Amino acid sequence: MAAERRVRLVERLAEAGAAQPSGVKAKAPDSFLVTNLENVRYLTGFTGSNGMLLLGKDGSARLFTDPRYTLQAASEADCKVTIAKGPMAKSVAKAIEKAGYRRLAVEQEHLTLGASEALKKDLPSRTETLPVSGLVENLRMVKDASELQAIRESVIANSEALEQALRQLKPGMSETDLAAEIDYRNRKLGAERPAFDTIVASGERSALPHAHPGDTLIGSGILLIDMGAFLHGYASDMTRMVHLGKAPAKYKQAYAAVLEAQLAAIAAVKPGVKASKVDKAARDVLKKHGLEKAFVHSTGHGLGLEIHERPRLGRKDSTVLTEGMAITIEPGVYLEGWGGIRIEDTIVVTATGCEVLTPTTKDLRTI
Ligand code: ZN
Ligand code: ZN
Repeated sequence: MAAERRVRLVERLAEAGAAQPSGVKAKAPDSFLVTNLENVRYLTGFTGSNGMLLLGKDGSARLFTDPRYTLQAASEADCKVTIAKGPMAKSVAKAIEKAGYRRLAVEQEHLTLGASEALKKDLPSRTETLPVSGLVENLRMVKDASELQAIRESVIANSEALEQALRQLKPGMSETDLAAEIDYRNRKLGAERPAFDTIVASGERSALPHAHPGDTLIGSGILLIDMGAFLHGYASDMTRMVHLGKAPAKYKQAYAAVLEAQLAAIAAVKPGVKASKVDKAARDVLKKHGLEKAFVHSTGHGLGLEIHERPRLGRKDSTVLTEGMAITIEPGVYLEGWGGIRIEDTIVVTATGCEVLTPTTKDLRTI
């Protein structure tokens, strides 16, 4: 599986030379050093916390890691492995010299300045480095069947974790308490770790789109919960609202508007549609309700081995949606001094439209 991904990547490597940041047309790279760990995992199966992958345009692949991962790399990676005894850059440079590579593509967003300097020091003088961007990330946008299955399982566990945690919710519980309960339930349901810091925001604090749970006690009123977890390495992401006690008319109206926007965005998702058009579908609904200024972020994002991946479903994203993309749809409104409402599902683009993976109800919920 990872081997097929490498074949597709090497095909794209040939095109990378045409898109140098300087705008100068350069020759295509003859090799590629992958340093983003999620990209390394995607291309080899290796899940360790330290590793680099060297790819040649002839399809050769070698994973570099350190002695802590000798056994793990041998069992997980489906390519050759070098265990670097000293600095990894030295081992990589040696391999590049041996293979005679002249034009090494590097991931400009993921190779630190320090690692880049170390590498340049050890590389043969005839080898130049070519910064490239998003080569693997663009491949990762479209998920294969095994990835979609992992996302599906992650989403289902995440939804179950919410139900279990809400059963523990009682007056006097703090936001932190509930967030910890959510994380614990997700772990018990098989997740490796939270996909991001779980958001539990009560009352006016829900107007902060990325509120960190604090020692605020959850009282009557608005409660926003945004949660996700990595399971089999793949992320889930969901936001749900709960109103403690009877919901006032203002809340009901705002909730109905956000839900209408969310459903409109979901209805706009199909292959061939630009990501920005999905964002516009949500924004248009909120505009109709006079809430467009209260919607301060984009409509969604891709997710997979990372919680935020391409595409970004914002005003300016011209990515064309394709079958197999996994994305979130999460419009929200935030009113200072009152609170916020967001509704978020994880969905997959199908051949004819999309499938909403998140099973949790979106009916207005009061406890
Ligand atoms: Zn999200
Ligand atoms: Zn979220």
